Amino acid sequence: MKTSADVIIIGGGIIGCSTAYYLAQKGKKVIVLEKGKGIGYGGSGRNGGGVRQSGRDPRELPLAMYGVKNLWPHLSEELGTDVEYYQQGNLRLGKTDEHLQILNGLTDVAVSLGLDVRMVTGEEVRDICPHLSDRVVGASWCPSDGHANPLLTTLAFYTKARQLGVTFLYEQSVISIKKMAGPTIKAITTRQEFEAEKIILAAGYESRAVSNTVGVDVPMQKIALNTLVTNAQPPMFYQMLGTATADFYGHQTTHGSFVFGGGSPLDPSIMKGVANQPPVESTATTCKGILSYIPALKHVKVVRAWFGFIDYCEDKVPVLDHVEEVPGLILACGFSGHGFGIAPAVGTVLSEMACDEVPSIDISELNYRRFSDKRKSGL
Ligand SMILES: Cc1cc2nc3c(=O)[nH]c(=O)nc-3n(C[C@H](O)[C@H](O)[C@H](O)COP(=O)(O)OP(=O)(O)OC[C@H]3O[C@@H](n4cnc5c(N)ncnc54)[C@H](O)[C@@H]3O)c2cc1C
Repeated sequence: MKTSADVIIIGGGIIGCSTAYYLAQKGKKVIVLEKGKGIGYGGSGRNGGGVRQSGRDPRELPLAMYGVKNLWPHLSEELGTDVEYYQQGNLRLGKTDEHLQILNGLTDVAVSLGLDVRMVTGEEVRDICPHLSDRVVGASWCPSDGHANPLLTTLAFYTKARQLGVTFLYEQSVISIKKMAGPTIKAITTRQEFEAEKIILAAGYESRAVSNTVGVDVPMQKIALNTLVTNAQPPMFYQMLGTATADFYGHQTTHGSFVFGGGSPLDPSIMKGVANQPPVESTATTCKGILSYIPALKHVKVVRAWFGFIDYCEDKVPVLDHVEEVPGLILACGFSGHGFGIAPAVGTVLSEMACDEVPSIDISELNYRRFSDKRKSGL
């Protein structure tokens, strides 16, 4: 078994798989260490598939805009798998004046940063998507947003990375990172040691415990979100939907089923004893939210519901940075529930960082220093 490489990636989610692919394209030898029996068992295999720029924090908007302009439109062709990418826009819906105020604020910020997004009236909303309730009085409308299939996209990056020579090792749970005297750095798993010039830590919320072993702390926590899928319906619409208050988001898939997520995190106290399925109450609440926006779905059946954990960062944006105190270590975590849509762009910049190149997308505000500076100043 190979135990050394140019780059070791910890975590086989979409961030690890996309980064492995872009690094292999650059000719680097890469090992991905995954603690599970396969890839994609974390958030990457459980998410809502939104590929959105609207409603993004300005600090991560450059990644979202770069991906939508340069990567997503030809990803299926590039990876040789149809990732079911639809670029038919995102409607973020509002039912009250308060909702419209929230949406106006988000829209103004995004427009000032160059995104094509605008407010539309209730009538315009129903011109775009006739199935929406009369209770919707307005929305933000971003025509270049969309959605894709997270399972297929993660698998496509993985398959292509393997074809290009990346080694994926399973049941290799990294328990610590070790600084070395020379130009390399080590990842220690429950089974053995691996060595590389660079280690990219992309293990979701579990990155925190791993980075703590070298004194690095990203303030993030594990939060559960729920999702459901319905039985297949005839084609109705292919926009991505969200709401001002985030009480649900979702879309219709190629297969015809709808995938919807509830916006509110699940209460950890009701998660006890639940294996992989959210409690029925939370699915019912999500359904109630959905029907208040799309009454036409009242006869549709929920066929499955599940939850996934997100790496919810204190300030709601990820950390993509070299760690000065630990040469060779690159952090890629804290995606806070919106890492799928930006994953191709994140993989691109991480591959550049691991080759000591200047990132082609502005990620300067996603630095690690923002936490260490805050700690030093006692805030
Ligand atoms: C219900 C839900 C809905 C979502 N909806 C959207 C959406 O619509 N749009 C969007 O952009 N984002 C969405 N997200 C967020 C998105 O899924 C994540 O941000 C993204 O998948 C993060 O990918 P990742 O590779 O960083 O993490 P993960 O997919 O969680 O992968 C991390 C991997 O690291 C492995 N690992 C952990 N610890 C170790 C260790 N010690 N050693 C080795 N391996 C380890 C895990 O097993 C896992 O495979 C949603 C998330 C959830 C849960």
